[in-house]
Amino acid sequence: MPRIVMKFGGTSMAGIERIRNVASRVRAEAEAGNQVLVVVSAMAGETDRLVQLCREASALSDPKEYDVVVASGEQVTAGLLAMTLQGMGVAARSFMGWQLVRASAVHGNARVDAVESALLDEALNAGTVAVIPGFQGVSEDGRLATLGRGGSDTSAVAIAAGVKADRCDIYTDVDGVYTTDPRIVPRARKLTQVTFEEMLELAGVGAKVLQVRSVGLAMRAKLPLRVLSAFEDVPGTDIVADLSGAEMERNEIAGIAADRNEARITLTGIADRPGTVATVMKPLAAAGISVDMIVHAATRAGEASDLTFTVPRAALAQARSAIEQEQSAIGFSEILCDDAVAKVSIVGVGIRSNPQLASRMFDTLAERGINMLAVTTSEIKVSALIAEDALDVAVRVLHTAFGLDAPANSQGQAA
Ligand code: ADP
Ligand code: ASP
Ligand code: MG
Repeated sequence: MPRIVMKFGGTSMAGIERIRNVASRVRAEAEAGNQVLVVVSAMAGETDRLVQLCREASALSDPKEYDVVVASGEQVTAGLLAMTLQGMGVAARSFMGWQLVRASAVHGNARVDAVESALLDEALNAGTVAVIPGFQGVSEDGRLATLGRGGSDTSAVAIAAGVKADRCDIYTDVDGVYTTDPRIVPRARKLTQVTFEEMLELAGVGAKVLQVRSVGLAMRAKLPLRVLSAFEDVPGTDIVADLSGAEMERNEIAGIAADRNEARITLTGIADRPGTVATVMKPLAAAGISVDMIVHAATRAGEASDLTFTVPRAALAQARSAIEQEQSAIGFSEILCDDAVAKVSIVGVGIRSNPQLASRMFDTLAERGINMLAVTTSEIKVSALIAEDALDVAVRVLHTAFGLDAPANSQGQAA
């Protein structure tokens, strides 16, 4: 019997009517002869509300208690969906993250280490639909742990890999992966296929349709992954190892991504000696803060220079205080912080072989008078840090410049 994981995001679970819609889709898959596991998110807006409550309770809340609070939204939707399914005559029961998902490292952004599949196997073999709250697991010290914002995607993929499911379907409020966020560019085009490699980069630079770790996990597990609409019965996007058919002929750039979750820190008057950058990164790593773009160029040997890097916006205050505490060890004159920045990126396998693509990106931004504050590149991606208020325009002009706009009469239809 085929085994499938269906994951439903926050908009799909927002309210009893929508949960009924989800339950009907789950019932259809169960009646079609599949063993079904469902991974659910909290209702849209609920996790934000819980995060805000934590902030109000304590400015620097204990991450373990933060996890206890923010994981609760998924517990509610899992129970509600299981009840709704039972009400429709479908055998179903909920499980909690601590029963299934072992996680480690930082609370609030934990990594999945293993999935205990025995309980799930038992339920599935008895013909019961397993309903599982996304985003949560149990840490090594037996405490509840959450997997970072958007983490239900990662829960779904990890569980699918853990129970050796035949595929994992991510149902959301758009009907697939687009060339860019269709809410910023209405003329974005839906991709029928995107490679794991491209999706990994797109998600890594802000395309939140999939949490980046879910893509890496699916790629390693060779798990068929799809993104689909929870509301419309239209074909979605397949995430594949290699493109085939019409997608092979497509543009060298798969998509443009936007990320507002950035803040810039500049340290001036940094000494030019081995180990300076390491002394800056060490306190940040110890605090579990990931650093994204790093720009450092010593102009003349022995002369002081500036170091610029970006951190997640929510971690800016924490990053600043971690660095200030180490000021004498690092040795810098001033720390400058700016959270009105954003990152725009082009992603595509074509970048590997065609240097003109990066140059076209820089020209396009320059023509619109958009200043690049920092640039980073990888084999299939170029990212530029720009002022946040220029972000939407940057995404639109790049989308057009790379020939990604859908023809006027066949726009992608985001739900
Ligand atoms: P869910 O609650 O279902 O997990 P998310 O809000 O996390 O949904 O992700 C879906 C959203 O991702 C869409 O509403 C869309 O605005 C955004 N998005 C960003 N980039 C893309 C893209 N390239 N393709 C599709 N959606 C995108
Ligand atoms: N509810 C969590 C969040 O909003 C996890 C998820 O929806 O994927 O980040
Ligand atoms: Mg999401």
